[in-house]
Amino acid sequence: MKADVHPKVSEHIPEIIEFVQTLIDKGYAYEADGDVYYSTRKFPEYGKLSGQNIDDLESGARIAIGEVKEDPLDFALWKARKEESEIAWESPWGMGRPGWHIECSTMAKKHLGETIDIHGGGQDLTFPHHENEIAQSEACNGVPFAHYWMHNGYINVDGKKMSKSLNNFFTVRDIRENYSGDVIRFFLLSGHYRSPINFSDTLMEQSKQGYERIATAIETLEFLRTNGSDEAMADEATKIASLDKHREKFIEVMDDDLNTADGIAAIFELVSEINLDVKDGASKSFAEEALKRIRELTDVLGLFSGEDEEEGLGDDIQALIDERQAARKEKNWARADEIRDQLAAMGITLKDTPQGVQVIRN
Ligand SMILES: [Zn+2]
Repeated sequence: MKADVHPKVSEHIPEIIEFVQTLIDKGYAYEADGDVYYSTRKFPEYGKLSGQNIDDLESGARIAIGEVKEDPLDFALWKARKEESEIAWESPWGMGRPGWHIECSTMAKKHLGETIDIHGGGQDLTFPHHENEIAQSEACNGVPFAHYWMHNGYINVDGKKMSKSLNNFFTVRDIRENYSGDVIRFFLLSGHYRSPINFSDTLMEQSKQGYERIATAIETLEFLRTNGSDEAMADEATKIASLDKHREKFIEVMDDDLNTADGIAAIFELVSEINLDVKDGASKSFAEEALKRIRELTDVLGLFSGEDEEEGLGDDIQALIDERQAARKEKNWARADEIRDQLAAMGITLKDTPQGVQVIRN
């Protein structure tokens, strides 16, 4: 899914300059030969995110030859242009470009406000990048920068670190050729976000199968909700009430540092119980209630939202299903079977039930 905003640094230069100027005005930054540096020592809480002591950091830091900063811990907010060919913008400190960290603080403030609820990022960005974002934003805005920090683990491929040199490097776009975006999301959520995630074709296939188990349950319930019985099932209220323990379990594990792996396990348990309940058919009202409970949980994970282009039947598939229904009405069994085989080859199974035709995607 697309994010609401995909901001570009080059479109936020005036805001970045304003941010840097505020830090200078408040005494957190200084100009030197067209560069602007952040005075790290002026922010006593520096190191709080990565759990490092500012004096320990100081002892390991050095000022490189040619650098004009006052303290080795200081970092650049603005860098003066060194050569004519470098990309640069006009600023109160001359032609230059933003430092590596200021752009995040500025764009976060503009698009999300002074305090963010959740800030994500790879583990390798905790220090110095995120530490510097905090120093900049909290000094400028005077309020906490983020309530929660979530640092995700690396992706391994067949047990090895993903890297260009190992030639095991690929993008989401590459995987999308074989798997839908929804299946990839399901795969990523099936591990805890802080742990490294291992990518392999076998694991991807396993994820796809797990995903389809839920998809099939949803399709069955969608079908039963219009084609099921009008009469209530035996012990229907008890059956529905029994489903809520999986919802409680889901909330409990998700409250524990967003444990999506166990959250998915809770959805599987919910699906298993529902499958048992509906194996001999179900009432419309039960199907409706069961569906509501699955959807409530999958919505939290952004799954089965219908935003993925592979969800929903294509027009051509629907046309074939309609044609097969017509053939059956005319008792043209040969044509009906032919279409059924054609659909099977496309991964669509048709199940004729007393309530009508149910479509199952494999
Ligand atoms: Zn950032």
